[in-house]
Amino acid sequence: MKIVMLGAPGAGKGTQAKMIAAEYGIPHISTGDIFRANIKEGTELGVKAKAYMDQGLLVPDSLTLELIMDRFTKDDCANGYVLDGFPRTIAQAEALTASLKEQGDALDYAIDVDVPDESIVNRMSGRRACIACGGTYHIVFNPPKKEGICDLCGGELTIRKDDVPETVQKRLNVYHEQTQPLIDYYNGEGILRTVDGTQEVAEVFESIKAFLNA
Ligand code: ADP
Ligand code: AMP
Repeated sequence: MKIVMLGAPGAGKGTQAKMIAAEYGIPHISTGDIFRANIKEGTELGVKAKAYMDQGLLVPDSLTLELIMDRFTKDDCANGYVLDGFPRTIAQAEALTASLKEQGDALDYAIDVDVPDESIVNRMSGRRACIACGGTYHIVFNPPKKEGICDLCGGELTIRKDDVPETVQKRLNVYHEQTQPLIDYYNGEGILRTVDGTQEVAEVFESIKAFLNA
């Protein structure tokens, strides 16, 4: 099964993608996580990506496409994947469609996690992320068992640099301009499914499973 998660930054794509990955035995591929891992390791890609990410801008398509196409060649993608944060532009979506088509393949679903901008700022300001394993929490809506510590790996939880309110607003603008058009794109392909992302985490997941198991 090949799934794309759509939605504004902070809508809950990563939270749901991790649950989908565990339930259906497919890898969760987050371009944001891959960029952050590169930044942490100080790679050339990381240095280039950081300049855009810190400003709330998108990393250029050329860099992002090279990275994701390489990721698709790994063995764990044999049965599909759930993509989180990719594609983010029409050019990226078209490149993905073309690359799959070359192999006689196509995406199965694009799931739009729909959350109004008003709720996003709250979610981002409370988000805490584990740098070690990518685990995501919220201080009110999805707190870790022990404050500041990742339930999954015991790593330290931090506030993402791009989750400060000024950058969040910029990321929302970028989302509306460059990424939201993908909703129409995938609707046109007939694979769009929309879930109400303002529900509780478990309820959002039930709605998604209802689509995937239909
Ligand atoms: P995205 O991957 O879309 O940027 P995340 O999955 O990281 O978003 O979620 C953003 C923040 O909102 C996190 O702190 C997460 O714990 C929290 N969150 C995710 N889903 C929900 C939900 N349904 N209700 C409330 N908070 C949520
Ligand atoms: P995310 O973790 O999905 O919120 O992504 C964090 C940041 O990484 C974004 O604000 C972008 O700067 C960058 N990024 C992640 N995925 C992409 C992508 N597909 N295209 C361009 N930039 C991306």
